[in-house]
Amino acid sequence: MSKPVPTAEELRARLSPLAFEVTCNKGTERAFTGAYTYHKERGVYACVCCGNELFHSDTKYDSGSGWPSFWTPLAGDRVREHRDTSYGMLRTEVVCANCDAHLGHVFEDGPQPTGLRYCINSVSLAFQGAAESKSAAESNK
Ligand code: FE
Repeated sequence: MSKPVPTAEELRARLSPLAFEVTCNKGTERAFTGAYTYHKERGVYACVCCGNELFHSDTKYDSGSGWPSFWTPLAGDRVREHRDTSYGMLRTEVVCANCDAHLGHVFEDGPQPTGLRYCINSVSLAFQGAAESKSAAESNK
């Protein structure tokens, strides 16, 4: 189910300057500075721009990179991947499949079972704790 895609103007007004720079201009937060690098609560990480649910805490691990790292996105084509040749490097960019927000990159040095490391900027994510999701689900009854 797709969510409404916010305009750049809406995002500029709502997001921090850094979150806007990362999600809309393919920026990168400095390593070891993000709010979710060592975040360990159980729940879902959604796209900060559109709310599309992207990753689950059960697939998060400490890669030592300084950015939140996951070995898989949630099932169902939540993210899209693009070849990225900027800065003289060959990398695979990861964007939100719903709104195209830049999230980070995926590398092939992750843990099993996928062997992948989704290296994601904290500012691209909005964490929704298990308790929060539950109360949200209950309030929708
Ligand atoms: Fe999004």
